[in-house]
Amino acid sequence: MLRPRMTTPRSLPLAPDWGLQLRNAITDLAGLEATFRLTDSEREGARRALEAGLPISITPYYASLVDPDDERCPIRLQCVPRAEEAVEVEGDLADPLGEVAHEVAPDLVQRYPDRALLLVSDRCSVYCRFCTRSRMVGQGGGARSMDHLEPAFEYLAAHPEVREVIVSGGDPLVASTARIRAILERLAGLGTLDTVRIATRVPVTLPSRIDDALCRVLREAFGATWVMTHFNHPRELTERSSRALARLVDHGLPVMNQTVLLRGVNDSAETLEALFRGLVARRVRPYYLLQADPVRGTSHLRTPLSTGVEIMRRLQGRLSGIALPKLIVDTPGGLGKVPHGPDWVVGAAGGVTTFQTFRGDVVDYVDPPEKP
Ligand code: SF4
Repeated sequence: MLRPRMTTPRSLPLAPDWGLQLRNAITDLAGLEATFRLTDSEREGARRALEAGLPISITPYYASLVDPDDERCPIRLQCVPRAEEAVEVEGDLADPLGEVAHEVAPDLVQRYPDRALLLVSDRCSVYCRFCTRSRMVGQGGGARSMDHLEPAFEYLAAHPEVREVIVSGGDPLVASTARIRAILERLAGLGTLDTVRIATRVPVTLPSRIDDALCRVLREAFGATWVMTHFNHPRELTERSSRALARLVDHGLPVMNQTVLLRGVNDSAETLEALFRGLVARRVRPYYLLQADPVRGTSHLRTPLSTGVEIMRRLQGRLSGIALPKLIVDTPGGLGKVPHGPDWVVGAAGGVTTFQTFRGDVVDYVDPPEKP
């Protein structure tokens, strides 16, 4: 018999106070045992994670989305450790995007000429089991001080070719609103940046964090701030997360979403169609569908490249352009992102390119003469 679904882990009301959500997050095996019916694999995974690997944190809100009885629940797979995290396979890397090698100042990573990544905290509200930065998140440093970040700001000031900064972590929005304001104002003061992107999972895992005061800071402290969210499954589009998204958009912030393709979580065209339609309906543009990075201990959550290509083939024509993200492979070693996907060209010769459409029709496109 199924137990009634637990909606308030540890009897905590789903409080609007995001600090309370963080303070009452599940962080240990006892908390997991009290909330979900754990399997042996999850128990072992939790013990291992606490000893050596990526720590555990699940906000009461996010835990309320988990099916307590189903170990294959797509929300649960994202946040509850499993024994497979101990498995290493060929190609696994601790730092798949080569961020350490591309660090140009403490917690400033530059992999492209015009952009840089500023890691302002190692803390997250939920530690995702597939995290690309599992090597550094949750290690106890918390939000970086302005003094610690000063060399990064000085580097940016000396390199005006960097036009955009992605503020990430950890999750930058787990820091205080005052700290976020200070960082954005410091970046604005450089006078060299066109845009700032805030990369955050808070709308998914801690939506009460998205309050009016925070939105005002995001909108005003730097003139052109974009918010990059990280929804992976349509079940994450709840009333609360929808309100958080509406608040961001209503404050004038452009919001885009990056989804990581994960085995057993969202590796079907139907699931992703529901997610992308749901995001667009909430005025959020699905931007990237990311092939999961080869992070050490995540092979059980990764799919072969062909899965993403086949999903994109099925979604083409079925979803409008604004709902269809690019499938992206972030190449190992930090050499940059490569768009990947089905090939719609079936022939090309003598200025004639032959396409196959999403319906399977084959059609020629004829180039104009070189000199009309
Ligand atoms: S919120 Fe982002 S940085 Fe934090 S654990 Fe999840 S994927 Fe990693």
